[in-house]
Amino acid sequence: TCSCAVESSADDTCAAVVTSSRQILSNVVIKQNDLHEGYGGIHPMVAIQAHQRNMPIAVKRALREANVDIRKDIDGIAFTRGPGIGGCLSVGSNAAKTLAASLDLPVVGVHHMQAHALTPLLTSWPNPPKFPFLTLLVSGGHTLLLLAKSLNSFRILATTPDESIGRSFDKVSRMLGLPWTARGPGAALEQFCAQPREGEVPELPPYPRPFKGQLAFSYSSLHSYVERYIDSKGGLENIDLPARLALARGFQTAAVAQLEEKVLLAFQWCSENNVQVGDVVVSGGVASNTYLRERLAACLTKLDISNPISLNFPPPALCTDNAVMIAWASMHRFLARDYDDYTIDLLAKWNIDTLSP
Ligand code: ATP
Ligand code: FE
Repeated sequence: TCSCAVESSADDTCAAVVTSSRQILSNVVIKQNDLHEGYGGIHPMVAIQAHQRNMPIAVKRALREANVDIRKDIDGIAFTRGPGIGGCLSVGSNAAKTLAASLDLPVVGVHHMQAHALTPLLTSWPNPPKFPFLTLLVSGGHTLLLLAKSLNSFRILATTPDESIGRSFDKVSRMLGLPWTARGPGAALEQFCAQPREGEVPELPPYPRPFKGQLAFSYSSLHSYVERYIDSKGGLENIDLPARLALARGFQTAAVAQLEEKVLLAFQWCSENNVQVGDVVVSGGVASNTYLRERLAACLTKLDISNPISLNFPPPALCTDNAVMIAWASMHRFLARDYDDYTIDLLAKWNIDTLSP
């Protein structure tokens, strides 16, 4: 079975072709980072227009690179049904449905976060994580710690009532005036933190540790810390490079420390509830952060359990938004002939614990 998928829930226009035997035949991602640079976040109207411009190009390129004949080789068209920006989602879903209708193919609407969560079942072959496993989804729109029980059953163990970790990386990166790079502001912050520095890096007051001891995240307090610090000095121009570095490193450390703490709490929850977990999967755009990867690996060694826990990160290119994960998450449904109607509606807000089993 071969699935052609499109994804346009946020600011990347994506199309891909994937087979049920785990071959990624193509993976096209057209980014629009530079378009949103002046807006301090994704501007919905700008994003919608860019998707409208780019979607036909992405689909055409994905089919050409996959070297498939859409009339013969494709068994279904998948798209992101939600969650995401409504107008952005509709560009992808209309493209998918129209393509499917013209070829008389079935469609499947996929949950974007489920797709992030199932990516390692594609990328870690032949040693994929086994259900039930823990998933940490750290992206631009989400900070979720999930218990994945099966392909479409997820329990939310922890989430954030305010900002996501990815957005807070983005905000801090912008507050520190870091240059906007093709890999986005979060990656720019990581790169800034990693630069070698001779001499003194000043000591700052400690960052907050919100929801300590509880299964919940909070990131707005971390970027507020940076904002207040900069205000207290009368603006970024009064903060020298060593102090900027201390702010950035302090933020990254505090952001990741929350993930470490909550993952350990999730293991405690599992043992209290007799759930045997052997794998932790970390996905979403922030999962490409190398410091995060190292810290989480170190943190799992602190666990007092007999079986070693395997830590799984999809390759960075499949951690950020892509259509490969949408195609892959649609596969079990195409195989089971569990299709959606062409009239299926979008769900801009859609909790992952309400997927139909
Ligand atoms: P969602 O998946 O929740 O709908 P999204 O699709 O916008 O959100 P992703 O594409 O998965 O999010 O991830 C984008 C986020 O990841 C951005 O906030 C970006 O700054 C962040 N990010 C990417 N690389 C890094 C990195 N190396 N370090 C920290 N953050 C990063
Ligand atoms: Fe995403």
